[in-house]
Amino acid sequence: MPLYEYHCQECGERFEKLLRMSDDAKAVRCPACAGASVERLLSSFATSGKQSGASSAASCGPVG
Ligand SMILES: [Zn+2]
Repeated sequence: MPLYEYHCQECGERFEKLLRMSDDAKAVRCPACAGASVERLLSSFATSGKQSGASSAASCGPVG
């Protein structure tokens, strides 16, 4: 099930909404102020800007 993150433009509330296939994505309202002017944020659980790379600079070949 797709979990979407919303941001209310009226009160600034950020909430997550689990939408099913039968749910209307346009009928999402803010749970804090019941405002209808909410924007859907992009899910960012697939991006990783950190990479722990060990120092393995193996640049010494077989010299002989
Ligand atoms: Zn709100």
